[in-house]
Amino acid sequence: MTTPHAAFRPATLLVHAGTERTNFAETAEALFLTSGFVYDSAEQAEATFTGAEKHYQYSRFGNPTVVMLEQRLAMVEGAEACRATATGMAAVHAALLSHLRAGDRLVASRALFGSCHWIVSTLLPRYGIETVFVDGTDLDQWRAALATPTAMVLLESPSNPMLEVLDLPSIAAMAHKAGALVVVDNVFATPLLQRPIELGADIVVYSCTKHIDGQGRVLGGAVLGRAKWVEEVLQPFVRNTGPAMSPFNAWVLLKGLETLRLRVDAACRAAEQLADFLSAQPLVARVWYPTRADHPQHGLAMAQMSGGGTIVTFEIDGGKAAAFRVLNALRLIRVSNNLGDSKSLVTHPATTTHMRISPEERARLGITDGAVRLSVGLEDVLDLRDDLAQALAAARAGG
Ligand SMILES: *Cc1c(COP(=O)(O)O)cnc(C)c1O
Repeated sequence: MTTPHAAFRPATLLVHAGTERTNFAETAEALFLTSGFVYDSAEQAEATFTGAEKHYQYSRFGNPTVVMLEQRLAMVEGAEACRATATGMAAVHAALLSHLRAGDRLVASRALFGSCHWIVSTLLPRYGIETVFVDGTDLDQWRAALATPTAMVLLESPSNPMLEVLDLPSIAAMAHKAGALVVVDNVFATPLLQRPIELGADIVVYSCTKHIDGQGRVLGGAVLGRAKWVEEVLQPFVRNTGPAMSPFNAWVLLKGLETLRLRVDAACRAAEQLADFLSAQPLVARVWYPTRADHPQHGLAMAQMSGGGTIVTFEIDGGKAAAFRVLNALRLIRVSNNLGDSKSLVTHPATTTHMRISPEERARLGITDGAVRLSVGLEDVLDLRDDLAQALAAARAGG
């Protein structure tokens, strides 16, 4: 056992936590690319299945490389336990479906990742689960919705793509009074910029596909929470329904975690500079970035987060046509719906990630036809600035 004490700081835990060396004393984490495990005897197999002996059985239930990742994530998050899943959506699905049953009620903030929105609006009601959406920044709506007993609350802060910041301690206090567990999708903040459990959350979910890999290679997800809930509620669900993470992906993500601090800090610094640059451009009507004084929940962001994140959202004057001219004129920054990559990526939410929701719902979320989401990567910030400058100039000339 070489697992360091939880008292180490996050940057140290990101490199070391959860590491379990084999007899070969390797430096890097071993990749156990195996689906099954063998027993010394029939008796040992029996003892493993009764629970009398601890032994890996099958990689759908647990795998040493995946467990290293789960332990590292749990220690970094300050959570008692973690289960890794194949994707971020598998994590959200498992967190909700393992806990909820027919007759239960879930309250969610409206500004959710597209597939999370679908689970809440379409999937859960099929199973007799009542779901209610609220405007996440309006505490009166939360109060009204949580006046009725509720099993779970789901929210995302900062949200995709408009970077709404929600008051986690106030919402958690109301949710707990209503009997609900609070699930926070913390993808945009990463484990480093916001600590939902300290702010009142019971369960934290991640798409590891984003900053935790951070290099655009693999899909992955994670659910973190109290040991009792993970063991008794989540584990039977994931064991029997099978959203298991591949050991290969877990190995890639362990390596991703080792550089998470460096990558997130660098991208945040660049994002902050680019947000300020964009706000001074004639074609840019508005910029959203949590640490800017003009962000609608600036005070809350400063209280809850230790950095603004790696995403900048801005609105181009002239709607979809002008936004498309800007996207098409970019040379370095590429058009993609992914985010959290070392490569800077830009997307037009109204026609891609948020295309499937109605124009009225998009308007309620503040996603205009001119809105552009920029995921800031690790290039030299001056090259990113120059690329944005030339694309904005080209869009103005072409408009
Ligand atoms: C990407 C994302 C997800 C889904 O993760 P996948 O790994 O793509 O399944 C969920 N929530 C947020 C906020 C995301 O950005």
